[in-house]
Amino acid sequence: MLNKVSIDDINFKGLRTLVRCDFNVPLQDGKITDENRLVASLPTIRKLIGDGAKVILCSHLGKPKGEPKPELSLAPVAVRLSELLGQEVKFAADPEVVGPNAKAAVAAMKDGDVILLENTRYRKEETKNEDNFSKELASLADIFVNDAFGTAHRAHCSNVGVAKYVKTTAVGYLMQKEITFLGNAVNNPKRPFIAILGGSKVSSKISVINNLLDKVDTLIIGGGMAYTFMKAQGGTIGNSLCEDDYLDYANDMIKKAADKGVKMLLPVDTVIADDFSENANTKVVKAGQIPDGWQGLDIGPETCSLFADAVKNAKTVVWNGPMGVFEMKKFAKGTEEVARALADTDAVTIIGGGDSAAAVNQLGYGDKMTHISTGGGASLEFLEGKELPGIAAATDKKRHIMAAGNWKMNMTPSQAVELINTLKPLVADKSDTTDVVLCVPAIDILPAVEAAKGSCIHIGAENMYFEEKGAYTGEISPDMLTDAGAEYVIIGHSERRQYFAETDETVNKKVLKAFEHGLKPIICCGETLTQREQGITIDWIRQQVKIAFLGVTAEQAASATIAYEPIWAIGTGKVATAEQAEEVCGAIRNVIAEIYDASVAANITILYGGSVSASSAPGLFAMEDIDGGLVGGASLKPDFAKIVKFDKQ
Ligand code: AMP
Repeated sequence: MLNKVSIDDINFKGLRTLVRCDFNVPLQDGKITDENRLVASLPTIRKLIGDGAKVILCSHLGKPKGEPKPELSLAPVAVRLSELLGQEVKFAADPEVVGPNAKAAVAAMKDGDVILLENTRYRKEETKNEDNFSKELASLADIFVNDAFGTAHRAHCSNVGVAKYVKTTAVGYLMQKEITFLGNAVNNPKRPFIAILGGSKVSSKISVINNLLDKVDTLIIGGGMAYTFMKAQGGTIGNSLCEDDYLDYANDMIKKAADKGVKMLLPVDTVIADDFSENANTKVVKAGQIPDGWQGLDIGPETCSLFADAVKNAKTVVWNGPMGVFEMKKFAKGTEEVARALADTDAVTIIGGGDSAAAVNQLGYGDKMTHISTGGGASLEFLEGKELPGIAAATDKKRHIMAAGNWKMNMTPSQAVELINTLKPLVADKSDTTDVVLCVPAIDILPAVEAAKGSCIHIGAENMYFEEKGAYTGEISPDMLTDAGAEYVIIGHSERRQYFAETDETVNKKVLKAFEHGLKPIICCGETLTQREQGITIDWIRQQVKIAFLGVTAEQAASATIAYEPIWAIGTGKVATAEQAEEVCGAIRNVIAEIYDASVAANITILYGGSVSASSAPGLFAMEDIDGGLVGGASLKPDFAKIVKFDKQ
C-alpha cells in the first residue's frame, strides 16, 4: 500500500492502526485535571473506528524515566477516553508496553475495537529512539498514524523510529491542523503579519527571533527577555532578568530588523517590583529607567496600548510567551491585555502552546482564537523554521520496495562474483528503502552469498524441490539452500511451468516447504496472451494465487512476495502498461484480503515482472499496488542498480 499523508486518503478497514497520540495530561491523585488533549484526539480516533480499523493508541505520560511508575500509568486515560468515545477503550496493562499482554490484546481485536498501550516512556529505549522498541511497536501494526504534535519536535521510538518499520504512515487530523495553521501563518501569511514573543529568556528564542525577522512585518518583544534588549540599548534595568551573553545578539537583531524594514516593538514602560513576590511594592516606570533594587515583572499600560494597537491592524498574529510573570495576579495584566487584543482582532490568531495557550484558555478567550497549538516546544521549533522529526517521519517516508533479479540460466560462478562486486557500491545507499535480492543459479549461490557479505544484497534461488531429500536426481532441497545462505526462492516461474511441468499444486507444495524452512518465497503467477485476449486474466490469476496459498498461515502470507509476470511479456520485450500491471496486482491484493484480511493484504509484497528495465521500472513501480519488480535480463548488468534506486513516495 502506498504511503499516504492524510488519513482521509486511506480506508482503514481491518487494518491494525497504531496511533501516536498526545495523552500527556496533568493528573492529580489519579484524576485527569485537564482533558483538552484527550478531546483533541477524538476526531482521528472516530474516523478510524468509523472505517472499521483496529485502533491501537499509544502515548507517553510525564517522565517515568524508562521504568514502570504506577502513578504515571495511562490507565485513567483509557477510562476517560471510553466515556468520551462512548465505546470501550481497552487498556493493555503491560509493564513492557509491547509485552505479552499487549500482544494478546492486539491479537484479540475485532474491527472497530480500540485499545490503549501503556506509557511508552516506561521503556528506556523510547527517548533514545532505539530500533528494538521501534520494531516492537511496529510489529503490532500495519499502518502508523502520528497525531501527537506536542512531541513532534522529539525523535522518539513511538513517533519517529516506528515509522521506519511500517509500510504506511500518515498524520492524523490534529497534526494536520497544526501543520496547516502554523505552516500557513509562517510561510504564507496574510499581511500585515505580526509575531509577539515573550517569556523569560532570549537564549531560548534566538532561532525563533532570527527566523521570524525574515517573515514578519512587525516583531513585538515583551516578557522577561525584553530587559536584555533594553540593557543592550543602554538602558538601566535594575535586578530584572537579563542574559548578558546575549546583549550583542539583541543589538544584532535590532539592526537586522531595521535592515529588513521590519518594525520591532519593545516595551516603552514597565511594571517594576521591589521583590519577586505577590506582596511586593510596585510602580510603573519608563523602559530602561529601572532603579537599583527593582525588577521589571510586566509590561506597563502604555506598552499594553502600543501592542494592542499594532494587533488591531494585523491580518495574521502569532503569539508565543507571556508578557510578564503572569502566574502572579499582580503581574498578569500585560499578558491579559495582549490576550484580549488578540481576542478582539479580526486577524488570524495563532497561539503557540505552553504558557500563552494556558493564559488564553484561563481567560476564557480560547474559542476567540483561530488556532491554539497543542505543542509548546513543537510550535516554537516550527516557528524557528525547523523540520520537526515527528512530522518528517510520518510524511516524508519513502515506501519500501523490492528489486529482485532473476538471472535465469545465465552467469557462471565467477561472473556472478564479478557482477555482485560491481553492484555492491552502486546500491549501498538503498538498504533502508529497498530489498535488493538476486536470485541466482543454484551453483552460484555459495560464491554469491560470500561476495554479497556486508552489503545490502540478499541472495535467493531460482527454484527448489518440495521434498526434504532422497532420490530426486538433479533437484535442490530447501536445506541445501538455507545451508548455502540463500534467503529467498522463486517458485512457479512461468518458465518452470512451461518447460518443467510445474503445476499450481507443485507450486503450493514448494511454497509450504519454503516457509517451513524459513525461506522467503517469491511466488510467480501470470497469464498467457490467449488468456488475456479471452478476458480471463483476473480469474486465472485468482485461481493461481488461491492454490499457491493453500495451507499458508496469515503470518506466513504477510511476509510472502507474489510476482505477477504476464507470460506474454517475459523475454519478449513487451511490457505490460503500468495500468495493466496495476489492475492485476490490485486484484492479487484483493484475493489475499479475501483469503486472509486487510492486514495481510497490506503487508504482502507484490512485484511486477516481465521485461522490466531501468526505463520502464519508474512508471510501473509508482503504481499503488506494485511494490517493486522481478527483473530478468536487466538484472544481469550493473544497470540493475538504476532499478534498485527508484524512490517510491
Ligand atoms: P518561557 O518558558 O521562556 O516561555 O517563559 C515563561 C516564563 O517567563 C513564565 O513562567 C513567566 O513567569 C516568566 N516571565 C515572564 N516575564 C518575566 C519577567 N519580566 N521576569 C521574570 N520572569 C518572567
